[in-house]
Formats: sequence, structure tokens, C-alpha cells
Amino acid sequence: MKSGRDLRVVPPVDATRVQIGEPENLPERFAHRAQGMKASEIRALFAVASRPEIVSLAGGMPNLSALPMEMMASVTQKLILENGAEALQYGSGQGHPKLREQICDVMALEGIKAHPDDVIITTGSQQALDLISRIFIDPGDVVLVEAPSYVGALGTFKQYEAQVVHVGMDEDGLIPQALRDAIKTTKATGRKIKFLYLIPNYQNPAGVLLPADRRSEILEICRSEEIFIVEDNPYGLLGFDKPSPNAMRASDSENVIYLGTFSKTIAPGLRVGWALVPQSLKDKMVIASESSILCPSNFTQLVISSYLANQPWRDQIASFAKLYKERRDAALSALDKYFPKNITWTKPAGGFYIWITLPPEIDTNALVPKAIAAKVAYVPGTAFYADGFGSWSLRISYCYPTAERITEGIKSLAGVIKTEMDSRQIN
Ligand code: PMP
Repeated sequence: MKSGRDLRVVPPVDATRVQIGEPENLPERFAHRAQGMKASEIRALFAVASRPEIVSLAGGMPNLSALPMEMMASVTQKLILENGAEALQYGSGQGHPKLREQICDVMALEGIKAHPDDVIITTGSQQALDLISRIFIDPGDVVLVEAPSYVGALGTFKQYEAQVVHVGMDEDGLIPQALRDAIKTTKATGRKIKFLYLIPNYQNPAGVLLPADRRSEILEICRSEEIFIVEDNPYGLLGFDKPSPNAMRASDSENVIYLGTFSKTIAPGLRVGWALVPQSLKDKMVIASESSILCPSNFTQLVISSYLANQPWRDQIASFAKLYKERRDAALSALDKYFPKNITWTKPAGGFYIWITLPPEIDTNALVPKAIAAKVAYVPGTAFYADGFGSWSLRISYCYPTAERITEGIKSLAGVIKTEMDSRQIN
């Protein structure tokens, strides 16, 4: 029998834009950790820097004009036509077994002997940083990082409410004695050190390379202090004149969590990275990853897998390195030619970045609008410190603009800096 009741649920007029409280009290309703979620200071800068009239020495975007697009298209088309049902399906939480095997071959180039079972595929190495932070960091725990360090990692550590302690570095990377001192001082205050995060190859942002003897010394210090090392290595295969020293993970499979990515050697848009973890950590990493993404994209993993299987990927990486070397050369000669005295910079042997140190009176944050007016963009040094340090340094990247544009940009930046130094009577 029909009741005559209307079962249609009629939404209230404004249901598409439900407001959750007044904007003023909204923050009180957030979790404590959301306090640390602030847009990075360089995000706004990147929006300006992407205008065509600006020479952007700011971002770390790889130069995809050197990637053979027709070949990528044919790999992708073949994949969908021949194996679409797998490629477009959910996959394993740990990542595709075939790609995990191939990743072991990639890591072998840096001396790592790994088993595919210990590889976890992530959505870029950024996701691996997030998973590691989620597993290790309680609010107030200490994470040791280089001074300066990668802005994306600092943002993640902050969201998990870590206390970031910067450890001194020089033109050869992290200084082992500074590490010993930082560990001692931190331990004396009773705080827990969860891991040391470092980028041994062509560091972001400093561009420096950690030599083999320092790698061994740092491994030894961390082993004896029972501090895990998170070795982040996006740039290791992009050395210009000779291969980089063996990865730290090559000589320690128990205490090093190694992060890799195809973002700089193939394409960041595919969002495929990985973590190679000590066996004891594997289950936690997979569970943490499954709860955040269920599984990494089967599609992009298989694009990379067939690219690695069918294309001369080592040659392709070599041609990327050649291109970046030419741009590094253009940047270094423009710095030599146009930059005033009293300014120093690193001379990278690979990767994307140069770190520039100005006289301490110059504030590189305040200089950004003047640089933009002169049509050049860079990232101010404070972005790479968790503690506000770095105001008289800056990072430039030579990966994206052409050599001519790099020269033009550095010349403009030199003009801006000179004017500032003159106005402050620094010479
Ligand atoms: N680590 C470092 C040092 C980086 O420079 C980058 C990218 N700029 C990443 C991690 C993140 O890379 P992705 O997530 O694209 O793999």
C-alpha cells in the first residue's frame, strides 16, 4: 500500500556551500598540527616567476624539452592498448613488482645492492618524506638537517611538529664535527633525535657534494648514536664530470632510509619516487602509504617501467646532465663576470642549484620585489632554514632557462645587488 510520503530528499538551498563556522573561530576547530600548515613563502614567488617576461632562477623544474616526447607518447599508447586493464586498475600498496626490480638496477648505478622486497614506490619522494615523518615524529622530536636544507622537507617536518636542528655545512657538505656537536647539545637537553635528513649529492639548495670520506664518517656517527639517516637523492645521477660517490645506503642497509625519484631523470609529472628501507621498517611504510593513497598510480609506474625496459634511459640521463652542465657553465661565467666583490657562491659539480652568500647587511627577502622589477626571480635563503636564518643568502637554479636567459637574469640580479650595496655603502 502506498503511504503517499515523498521520499525525495530536497537539499537546502545552500547545501553546496555549507559553512563550517565563522572564519574567525575556524582555526580553533582545526587539529593542533594544522597550525603548522602555512603556504610556503616561495609559493607566491613562483606564481610571479612564471610570467614569461621574468627570468626565473627560482624553481627547480627539470628541463623536459630534452625528453623525447614522441617516444613517451608511443610508450604510453602501447601500454594502454596492450595492458590497459592492468595499467588503469588499482595496484599493490607497495608498488608494482616489475618496477621495484628495475629500480634496483637504477640504484645499482650508485653502488646499492637492494632487494625489490625492500623498495616501496611512492608518489614522488615528497610522499616518502611524509610517510617517514608520520612514522617517526612526535611533536617536539628533533630532526637534524643540513644548514640550509630542502624547503619541501622542512615543510613536512614542520607539519608533524618536529623541532628542526640545522647542522653546519661547508663547500663539502655536512661537517661531521658539527654533527657530533649538534647531537651532543640536543641530547643534553633531553630531546629525542629521530633522524638525520640529508641530500649528499648536489644538494638542494647549496649545490654541494658530500665526499666519500665524510659519508663514511657520518654513517659511523649515526650508527653509534642510533640515529637513522634519511638519504634523499634526487640528483645523484646528474653529475657533470664524473659519477657521484656511492650512495650512503650502499654501505649501510640497516640504518639508512634511502629516497629516490624519477622526477629529475625522467619527468616529475609522473609522480613516481621510492623509498628503500631497512627490512624492519617496510611493513610500517606500506601501511602508512596505503592509508594515505591506497596504492601508487599503476599507470605512471607502468609508463616508467616500459620506458626503462625499452628505451636507452642511461643515455637519456647523460644527455640531461650535458644540458645542465652547459647551463651551470653559463651561470658560473655570468656570476664571475657581473657579480660584485664580497659575494661568494658554490660551484656545483652536478644537479640544479647554486647558493650565493652576500654581505650580511643585505636582506634577500627585501630584495625580491626589486629583482622582480628587474625581471629576474630567485629564492631567498630564509626559505631553506626552519629558524629564520639565511637572510643574506639566496638560491638560484640554472635547470630551466636557456643559457642566454640565465646570463641575462644573472646580469640583472647583479645590477639589483650592486645598487643595494651602493646604497648601503658596502664595497
Ligand atoms: N627532495 C629534494 C631534495 C628535492 O629537490 C625534491 C624536488 N625538488 C624532492 C625531494 C621532491 O621530489 P619529487 O616529489 O618530485 O620526487
